[in-house]
Amino acid sequence: MSLALEDQTAVVTGGSSGIGRAISVAFAAEGADVVVADLQEESRDPDEHRTTAAVVAEETDQSARFVKCDVSDPDQTRAAVEAAEAFGGVTCMVNNAGIFHGEEFTEVTEDQFQTLIDVNLKGTFFGAQAAASAMIDGDGGTIINLSSVAGLRGSAGYATYCASKGGVRLLTYSLAAELGPQGVRVNAIHPGIIDTAMTTEDVPIIGTDAGDEYMQAVPSRRWGDPGDVADAAVYLASDAGDYVNGESLTVDGGMTNTT
Ligand code: NAP
Repeated sequence: MSLALEDQTAVVTGGSSGIGRAISVAFAAEGADVVVADLQEESRDPDEHRTTAAVVAEETDQSARFVKCDVSDPDQTRAAVEAAEAFGGVTCMVNNAGIFHGEEFTEVTEDQFQTLIDVNLKGTFFGAQAAASAMIDGDGGTIINLSSVAGLRGSAGYATYCASKGGVRLLTYSLAAELGPQGVRVNAIHPGIIDTAMTTEDVPIIGTDAGDEYMQAVPSRRWGDPGDVADAAVYLASDAGDYVNGESLTVDGGMTNTT
């Protein structure tokens, strides 16, 4: 089984922080060059002062390049994919950029709904489209979409987020059907609670009393690390995952299937 990603070029949206950063570094460690496409180059983690490109340069033999990109604008995502040409062209697209917040369903405004859908669902849709066009013109490739356990099950207080991530799941399956015959595999990863700024700041779960209680529903009895998700992404991008297509890979410490 080979997890090597030599000769691959990945584009990772939201690659400056959290899960996207871990995926970028893990991919580089396996031999891929990486385009980090994000709103800003700095990490959201206040303890991490290096950029993702700097970590890749210091800890791996590969190269990473930052491209400023708002995934809600398809032109910017297309430009990020084009930037991969400098490394030989995209072979793996990771649609990871996302935003998360709670809400009261009856209070959600059209603008609030649209903002979240524009990043999580539209961003993934057009990120996949830009990459698929390049991959079909090239030698094929893989697309990995970051959904969530919230894309598998509904959750009170998170209707827009669940709708966006459920959309990402079925988008993934549809693209697997459409692009598989053209040499492009498309899969989704569904993380549970992963320790990033999203779950410590945006929606504080980790480090709260409610979070401690919630963890009792996680059979592994720990929160996920961004590296746990990165390992799953490496597998899906590599030859080891060559016959895995149109799949949802849940990385949640066992939570979803046991509660
Ligand atoms: P994170 O730490 O907040 O990192 C997300 C990154 O995406 C940030 O660097 C952020 O940029 C960037 N981003 C936000 N909006 C963007 C946009 N419009 N265009 C380009 N980049 C944008 O979050 P994370 O926890 O790593 O989450 C990564 C993905 O995993 C998301 O899709 C999330 O929904 C999914 N996920 C996370 C968890 C979890 O528990 N953490 C669970 C399930 C699914 P800024 O730094 O500039 O804001």
